[in-house]
Amino acid sequence: MGERLRNWAGNIEFGAARVHRPGSVEQVQEIVAGADKVRVLGTGHSFNTIADTEADLVSVAGLPADIRIDAAGGTVSVAGGVRYGELARKLDAEGYALHNLGSLPHISVAGAVATGTHGSGVRLGNLATVIAGVDIVAGGGELVSLRRGDADFDGAVVALGALGAVVRVTLDIQPRYQVSQHVYERLPRAQLDAHWDEIAAAGYSVSLFTGWRGDTVDQVWVKRRDDDAPAPAELFGAMAADGKRHPIAVMSPEHCTEQGGVPGAWHERLPHFKLEFTPSSGEELQSEYFVARADAVAAFAAVERVRDRVTPALQISEVRTIAGDSLWLSPHFERDSVALHFTWVPNQELVLRAVDALEEALAPFAPRPHWGKVFRSAPAYPRGRDFAALAARLDPAGVFRNAFVERYVLAG
Ligand SMILES: Cc1cc2nc3c(=O)[nH]c(=O)nc-3n(C[C@H](O)[C@H](O)[C@H](O)COP(=O)(O)OP(=O)(O)OC[C@H]3O[C@@H](n4cnc5c(N)ncnc54)[C@H](O)[C@@H]3O)c2cc1C
Repeated sequence: MGERLRNWAGNIEFGAARVHRPGSVEQVQEIVAGADKVRVLGTGHSFNTIADTEADLVSVAGLPADIRIDAAGGTVSVAGGVRYGELARKLDAEGYALHNLGSLPHISVAGAVATGTHGSGVRLGNLATVIAGVDIVAGGGELVSLRRGDADFDGAVVALGALGAVVRVTLDIQPRYQVSQHVYERLPRAQLDAHWDEIAAAGYSVSLFTGWRGDTVDQVWVKRRDDDAPAPAELFGAMAADGKRHPIAVMSPEHCTEQGGVPGAWHERLPHFKLEFTPSSGEELQSEYFVARADAVAAFAAVERVRDRVTPALQISEVRTIAGDSLWLSPHFERDSVALHFTWVPNQELVLRAVDALEEALAPFAPRPHWGKVFRSAPAYPRGRDFAALAARLDPAGVFRNAFVERYVLAG
């Protein structure tokens, strides 16, 4: 019996017979060349079986980070298993920044990008949209480099680990910038509908937290860049908080990034939680659905119509925005999106009941689920066939396929 690993939330026990932790790209190539079935594990922060396999599981976390900044080209290249927090610190120290970050800096770059992980911002694409190149150990163990502009590149970034092991990624960078964060409380629910577009665009990156009950939205977190307009004391009836807040009101805000408008480095404000705080595992599950940003107000009402089936499983919901992109399997493919995120209690039965209710309620808006979170049904993607053809070219024997990819992508 091989080593048994679990994901961050503890709800998935990986079925892998063998777990490998190679220390070099050559070792990754040897493992892949000698295997029938392989999946790559990032930091294991996904909530479903996307990374699972019954055969060989390869963690690329042990590859040297080897962070190389190309100032003239405006890019950085880095080993795929590096965590955003580590990359961000190095970039900031050298005077550079990324366009955005997810709520947690602990996830690996290649793993995050593989599922289309995102932050918030009406003008900001998901984290995969600043990937300028990927080096992939493909199905036969050969190293394949794809760069933005190559014919297949848009299929090779949000790739669910189905094309090969991403050992190196190149990302666009920009000069470092400062961000300040304000939390506003009790946004009148009616104001959200009346002023959704303005609220979503009230800063560089805006997140709303709600339990879908009552006549107010609990909190609005507005992250502004140093070149944005100054923060108002009131946001459509929501007042600036008089102290630090956690998205779940009853929890201690100690581990949240600085609020109250105190400016700080981009990577210490864009995530909601501090890098040095490692969140405990097993206390939540998550789901997230993306619909067109233009449908946001109708989608909010649809969620509220099924709230009696949703709230028994709910800890808190977060609403964010993501600019549309051209990446074939991106949940934001050719659609400016609003993200309806649900942090659940760790009770699979209650969660699936809520997920069913949500998928039914959101069906008129053609929702796309987050690839790394709990969902039941995924829609067909317009470029799904092209992705299947690309997978067949890079991995003709289907070494990197697993049941999740077969079911949700290749079957469609
Ligand atoms: C507390 C918490 C907060 C989160 N916050 C956000 C958020 O703000 N925004 C958001 O969008 N999502 C969020 N997520 C979801 C998370 O970003 C995604 O699940 C992401 O894919 C996790 O990255 P990972 O490195 O852990 O990947 P894993 O879960 O390990 O793997 C995910 C997929 O990537 C593939 N993969 C991993 N590494 C490689 C590689 N080197 N080469 C090829 N394929 C690879 C795997 O095979 C698998 O298919 C959050 C999750 C948690 C637990």
